[in-house]
Amino acid sequence: MKDEAEARKILEWLKREINAAWEDRERIVPSFRGAPRPQLIEILKLLPKTNCRQCGEPTCMVFAARLAEGAKGAEACPPLDSDQRSGIDNYLSRFSSSRSDLID
Ligand code: SF4
Repeated sequence: MKDEAEARKILEWLKREINAAWEDRERIVPSFRGAPRPQLIEILKLLPKTNCRQCGEPTCMVFAARLAEGAKGAEACPPLDSDQRSGIDNYLSRFSSSRSDLID
């Protein structure tokens, strides 16, 4: 987190989520399926696959893993053009969580 204000904001969001879950506990039906996750091979298909290391990772596959976990963004791969970056961002956006609730 970048500062205390951001940490407090996330804590408040988490508190609201926990309280909402508690209030809805009688209506919640458990799901035993995992949330869909980005597939490394699908991300790799969208990368140049040259293993040039300009992103600071040893291979495009490692970079794909960093993208999947959210540790890096498509902008960290210099060989990608804007359309290719948009393609990766679009693919990854399907898996974004409710963290967007944190954004004003
Ligand atoms: S900068 Fe892009 S093309 Fe080069 S290794 Fe990293 S992910 Fe692959």
